[in-house]
Amino acid sequence: MTDPARSMARSLTGCAAAWWLALAGLAIPVHAQAPADALVLVHAGRLLDRPEAPPREAATVAIRNGRIESVHDGFVTPEGYADAQLVDLRERFVLPGLIDSHVHLDTDAGGEARLLEALTKDIPYFAYNAAVNARKTLDAGFTTVRNLGGRNGVTLALRDAIAAGKLPGPHILDAGNGISGTSGHGDATLGLSPEIAAHVSEDNLCDGPEACRRAVRLQVRRGVDVIKTMTTGGVNSRIGAGLGRQMFDDEMRAIVETAHLYGKKVAVHAHGAEGITLALRHGADSIEHGTLLDEEGIELFLRTGAYYVPTLSTVNGYLERIAADPNAYPPDVRAKIDWRISITGQALEKAYPRGVKIAFGTDAGVSKHGRNADEFELLVKHGLTPAAAIQAATRNAADLLGISADAGSLEPGKRADLIAVDGDPLADVRVLKNVEFVMKDGKVHKGRPAAAEPAALTQSHIPSR
Ligand SMILES: [Zn+2]
Repeated sequence: MTDPARSMARSLTGCAAAWWLALAGLAIPVHAQAPADALVLVHAGRLLDRPEAPPREAATVAIRNGRIESVHDGFVTPEGYADAQLVDLRERFVLPGLIDSHVHLDTDAGGEARLLEALTKDIPYFAYNAAVNARKTLDAGFTTVRNLGGRNGVTLALRDAIAAGKLPGPHILDAGNGISGTSGHGDATLGLSPEIAAHVSEDNLCDGPEACRRAVRLQVRRGVDVIKTMTTGGVNSRIGAGLGRQMFDDEMRAIVETAHLYGKKVAVHAHGAEGITLALRHGADSIEHGTLLDEEGIELFLRTGAYYVPTLSTVNGYLERIAADPNAYPPDVRAKIDWRISITGQALEKAYPRGVKIAFGTDAGVSKHGRNADEFELLVKHGLTPAAAIQAATRNAADLLGISADAGSLEPGKRADLIAVDGDPLADVRVLKNVEFVMKDGKVHKGRPAAAEPAALTQSHIPSR
């Protein structure tokens, strides 16, 4: 802050200009001083308010009570609003807060380290992990995440703590514990001795339709937002049963019917083609990973309107762990990882040109938390335009999560969840790896708005209340 600006800030009291200077120069957090119903005006150098349309040039987002009130071309000034505040992002590109449709906030460990962690750490350890990872995720510009599976319920409690304003983090939709058949990808006893396995809770495992209905209801009873299930083996699961189908029609039907009965969407982990088609035939809302997607799967995607969440970032996590320790994974898991690395992106390259709807999801936890935006580069590498990749993480992900009334674009009525970057993400999507500014629910979480002189204002009109 310059000395003249400092003295101006001292001499001005109570007027709109004082608010403006306070925000522009002193970087006082908006929420530290704003009355709840104060008008906040965000000046954006460029604004991608509707991700499927070209960005606006200079524009203003008017915010009240944490929601967007209106969007205007040009820089609207706060004259006539004694309580108005101005957030100056005139040098930056502003876009909706990002959405990651597939994370696991409670851990960063993988392979042998993950097994050891599960056996030796307690619930408070995972709870603190989840809180730290939530903050990293919000710092990275992801204002909403869907947490697809955690064993101990810590992310359900974290979801509520963040919503109550007790901790910083993204809005969370949580699946509780993922449901699978006995010996399936969600069987936490895989790799354990029978003596230890006898002490592991298995209420997320189901064999037969009645048990599968009950398994879903047990998660609903815990207060989950969405149901996660697994129709095939997993790359990380410690079993030699491969990545093919591991669930029957009547089981999958029971899971989807029960979840939908309670208004919960179903996210399905599936690698093998028969596991993908099984899930889509019975009404899955999204396929996670989808590695061996075939023609039948593509046609089912198009017919049902389900989303594909490619989770390409998992490969980054595998490669980094193997680089740090060649023995990070046991041999049976390592074989699957090498295969996944060799084939990654191929399903997306088949699906996207055919019109399959893509939602952004990283599987963070396998890859590193806070590096969620690395997925953008991989989506573009495998055929999406930067604009399409951004849509996958905004409009599309909001649709998949069922939160389009709140998120996915910057339109009146929606949450004031927005981020700003230097540079143009539509030209180079990698700029999203360095999110400079994060606002969630109308409150500044990260970044100081750049200082600028009031004379730089080019327009003066006031949004209607
Ligand atoms: Zn996952």
